[in-house]
Order: sequence, then structure tokens, then C-alpha cells
Amino acid sequence: MEMEHGYRGPAGGGAEGGFDCEEAIHTLYTFLDGELTLERRLDIQRHLEECSPCLEAFDFEAELKIVIARKCRDSVPPSLLDRVSRALADASGPGVGSEDPGGMSTL
Ligand SMILES: [Zn+2]
Repeated sequence: MEMEHGYRGPAGGGAEGGFDCEEAIHTLYTFLDGELTLERRLDIQRHLEECSPCLEAFDFEAELKIVIARKCRDSVPPSLLDRVSRALADASGPGVGSEDPGGMSTL
């Protein structure tokens, strides 16, 4: 067997359901918002089972959304939501310092 060298992405273009990574990620957000048909969800789930990069991305987003959704139901204080979004910003940025460097104290 010979592998082609035109390797693109982890799922390699031969998705059985006609579902590739780009579409999976794109649809993921709709999925998380609960605005997908059952059929569509199964398509995504099947893709995630075979594609770990997508699964990881999905896991992170899904967990976050679920946590937030649950906390919101229990009427979480907005300060916690603020902390979550800050943590996210921190995680994606290079800087790690979360304390005020400039001495701008907010009362
Ligand atoms: Zn994928």
C-alpha cells in the first residue's frame, strides 16, 4: 500500500460521511448551541471519534459551554463568568501575569 504525500489534515480527505475537519469545527459551534438536527449531531460525533484534533477542540469548547450553561442556571455571580472569560483570554495569550502591572486599582 502506498500513502499519498498530499496529506492534508488528520482525517485525510476520505471522510465517509462527507464530513471533514473544517466542516466539523464550523458545525461544532452550532452543535454546542443545540441548534442542530439529530442527524447532524451524529455526523459530528462520528467525525470526532475518528479525529482527535477535532475531538480535543470540541472537548474544550463543549466543557466550557456546558459548565457555563449549568452555572448560569444556578444563577452564578457574573464575577465568575468574568473570571472564566479572563482565564480564556489568558490561556490564548502569551502573557501569564493576571495581576495589575500598572497599578490601576479598580474599586
Ligand atoms: Zn477532524
